[in-house]
Amino acid sequence: MAAPGHRRSALERGEKFLSELYFTDCNLRGRLFGDRCPLASLSCFQTPRRIRYDEAIRQEFRPAKVGDSFGPTWETCWFKVELSIPQAWAGQEVHFVWESDGEAMVWRDAQPVQGLTKEGEKTSYILTSSLKETEPHSLTLYVELACNGLFGAGKGSLIAPPDPDRRFTLSKAELVIFNRDVYELLMDLEILLDMAKLLGEENQRSFQALYTANQMINVCDVMDPSTFPAARDLAAAIFSQRNGESQHTIHAVGHCHIDSAWLWPYEETIRKCARSWVTVIRLMERNPELTFACSQAQQFEWVRSWYPGLYVQIQDFVAKGRFIPVGGTWVEMDGNLPSGESMVRQFLQGQRFFQEQFGWICSEFWLPDTFGYSAQLPQLMRGCGIKRFLTQKLSWNLVNTFPHHTFFWEGIDGSQVLTHFPPGDSYGMHGRVEEMLKTVKNNKDKGRVNHSILLFGFGDGGGGPTQKMLDRMKRMSDTDGLPRVQISTPDQLFSVLEKESSQLHTWVGELFLELHNGTYTTQAQIKKGNRECERILHDVEVLSALAVAQSSTFQYPASQLQRLWRLLLLNQFHDVLPGSCIQLVVEDALQYYAEIRRAGARLREEAVQSLCRELLQPKAESAESTLVLNTLPWERTEVISRAGTDSLVLVTVPSMGYALVREPLLPVQPVAVRKQEDGSITMENGVIAVCLDTMGRLTSLQLVGSERESVPDGCHANQFALFDDIPLYWDAWDVMDYHLETRKPVTTLLKPLEITLAGGLQGSASFSLQIGKSSTLRQEIILDAACPYLRFLTQVEWKEAHKFLKVEFPVKVRSTNATYEIQFGHLQRPTHWNTSWDWARFEVWTHKWLDLSEHGFGVALLNDCKYGASAHGNVLSLSLLRAPKSPDATADIGHHQFTYAVMPHQGSFQDAGVIQCAYNLNFPLHVVPASSAQCPAWSAFSLSSPAVVLEAIKQAEDRPDALVLRLYEAHGSTVVVWLQTSLPIKDATLCDLLERPAAQGHLLLEQQGLRLSFTPFRVLSVLLVLRQ
Ligand SMILES: [Zn+2]
Repeated sequence: MAAPGHRRSALERGEKFLSELYFTDCNLRGRLFGDRCPLASLSCFQTPRRIRYDEAIRQEFRPAKVGDSFGPTWETCWFKVELSIPQAWAGQEVHFVWESDGEAMVWRDAQPVQGLTKEGEKTSYILTSSLKETEPHSLTLYVELACNGLFGAGKGSLIAPPDPDRRFTLSKAELVIFNRDVYELLMDLEILLDMAKLLGEENQRSFQALYTANQMINVCDVMDPSTFPAARDLAAAIFSQRNGESQHTIHAVGHCHIDSAWLWPYEETIRKCARSWVTVIRLMERNPELTFACSQAQQFEWVRSWYPGLYVQIQDFVAKGRFIPVGGTWVEMDGNLPSGESMVRQFLQGQRFFQEQFGWICSEFWLPDTFGYSAQLPQLMRGCGIKRFLTQKLSWNLVNTFPHHTFFWEGIDGSQVLTHFPPGDSYGMHGRVEEMLKTVKNNKDKGRVNHSILLFGFGDGGGGPTQKMLDRMKRMSDTDGLPRVQISTPDQLFSVLEKESSQLHTWVGELFLELHNGTYTTQAQIKKGNRECERILHDVEVLSALAVAQSSTFQYPASQLQRLWRLLLLNQFHDVLPGSCIQLVVEDALQYYAEIRRAGARLREEAVQSLCRELLQPKAESAESTLVLNTLPWERTEVISRAGTDSLVLVTVPSMGYALVREPLLPVQPVAVRKQEDGSITMENGVIAVCLDTMGRLTSLQLVGSERESVPDGCHANQFALFDDIPLYWDAWDVMDYHLETRKPVTTLLKPLEITLAGGLQGSASFSLQIGKSSTLRQEIILDAACPYLRFLTQVEWKEAHKFLKVEFPVKVRSTNATYEIQFGHLQRPTHWNTSWDWARFEVWTHKWLDLSEHGFGVALLNDCKYGASAHGNVLSLSLLRAPKSPDATADIGHHQFTYAVMPHQGSFQDAGVIQCAYNLNFPLHVVPASSAQCPAWSAFSLSSPAVVLEAIKQAEDRPDALVLRLYEAHGSTVVVWLQTSLPIKDATLCDLLERPAAQGHLLLEQQGLRLSFTPFRVLSVLLVLRQ
């Protein structure tokens, strides 16, 4: 018989043969399931809480039936399912089929056994693959149904705030015979028809596939399974025609990207992990080749404590190398906003967890979904035993197409990591022909590398891979016309790429995501919580470490700090810290910050009590005094309020140490504040002199020594501006370039500028403004004696919708680049929009400061809890507040308090101490009432060069008798420094970020201290063993 002449009719004939919609009375798809049998009984119990199995099954269950609805949103229904398999089904494959809205988990004999989620194409639990006489025919299962979808319960759209009243319907619950032979034939035909369609008419392989499929339909009588083998033989013949040697190889790895919280709260994620991972385990049992890459130590920890039985099975498959922990971090964190030390802790907590639980650390960093990647990450990865990085998010760039899928990524210190983006631009593939072809076609490094990865599986509780995906790829393992597809591991892929790497390009600097730039600003309370809690944990660790070194009786609060760090790290997840989560998540996150603040304050007090006990003990003869502690590694002279009073005093406190306030130190020059006839106010402290108009705007900002003016003629600095902020879709995520065209200066004065503190040690003036229709802003502008920057203490009552508030500082500086602080360093970004790569960065992120400098002079903008910023032309802007409505309709509405500061400087920002000033603004001196009046100032550590920052001090993880110090070169220079300490030190060794001593890392304890060599932005860790 001749093959058909008409391509389209042959194709459609095949499609109809597989259709779930058409001709199911006579097509192959209609034969997939055989006889059906209803459940023996079904009953249900509903609860608003997420409870454990043991508690659930003790409740009173009421009758339920298919067709019933449950809810509302976030409730949980537990179903008791009694079933009885008909005797007549002997020899058949029997499935328990469950189709409902929401996410379900099947429990059997008190253990979770299978997730059932329609959205993840998982609706059946295999009871037996061939029913035997001896098998029990009657059994009881429980089904735990979460009343939320895979992606929460957005009302009307994915990212809309959750619909609180959604109902969840049970549409099918029954037993069914599954015809495996029909299924296999369906899979053969699907692949052949996809090849026919997608390879296209210019490809002869397309026609070979089409004619084979057509022939199969001819020989196949759907009512007579004895005709199936002949049809399958036809398919096997074409699938076994192999590729040539040069064909691209796709490494397929099972995956299930689970957001640790996003459109559902943290608590639901715990169940999503269990539902997904138990499903993966079931699939692994039936498919010995399946591998599964799984990130986020936190999720492993959740499953370990909530589902110990399942965890044992996971451990077993980890040991077999098939369930593969990847990433090495506590969670898949945001890649921009966490501090350098936070990023180190992500790896430290993650890698140590994997080491403890599985006996090895991850060799790949894994961040497929995060909104941009700091240029400091390569060095941090290398310091944590990782040389490989996988992501794909840059495929979301709105403006420029990233030019590589496989390349070396080089950080600001020169560290390199081999980086791979799945060329299919996804981390949730389905193993289809289309995706394989896209992977090859889209690969930007054709000819340089011949291997790539494909991650397959439904994410976010969808249970990851399916049997279908595996069966598709089996047929494509080596078939002429398609790339080779092998089930593989990240290690296998990167190992081949490392061998092929000689032709690869290098990308230097940050991997900036040209989208989601609103996430630097959205949910200001979360940003503030992050910055504050980073500071609190820093201070607790420094003070506790010093206390340990000074007193053998002090117990370093290691386990409490670990608990608090893990809360902070969890909140750095890539939909929480960016603010792209629902209100329920925001509430959880703010609670975690509150917990860190509460416990942190207690731990700090305990450390100070131990460290300064002598000074705090009341002594009859001593007068009341004030103890001031400095947790930063340089001497500071600042104005503080005396403990328990409003009285101000200027103090000098040594580096990482403390001093008692005795006679008030008098400033060289007090602050002078004067009101001019036109209502403007001038302030001067001998370092800077400012003139403020009645609206609180700077019309002049001068360095007193040089009389260099910072504000251009006719311009106003500290100018608030309001923008319309309506993105294209991703509301909480995106601010679009066109928002800049809607700028409206805020000029409605509620209360003109008035002097609030007339000078001396501190001068201040305050004013208030109306913003938009219903928001207000009150600001106190403060100048301290001896301080090189002017502070703006700001309070906002924010009640806007889709508006963006910024504050602008036009400055009299010309430079084509501005400098932004990042983790353990800084980088430059252009102030112009020459190319599309430049203007795509119209809104960027920074940490504690940004700076615009020309030779010999510059102006820096410091902040205590903001991250969004920009510098265009000569205008520095700090992004203050947004008002998106999805996925949290209440985002940012309410009261806000934050401080920023402006600092004009002579010379470079490095020499002028901008970096130190920004730290000072963020780490206020600690003031404690003391009794003793006599005590010399004490310093634990100091450094011989301001280029190096001693960022963190902590107890070593595995050695209670040792401290770990983290230092970095902050100026971008090559420098040798001496680290001096007054602590009793026995031994010093360089170590990596996981605190593993470096080979040849031993340091000599010399008279001048420890000699440390740095190259630009180098991060060093030192292990100090205490003499006790
Ligand atoms: Zn994600």
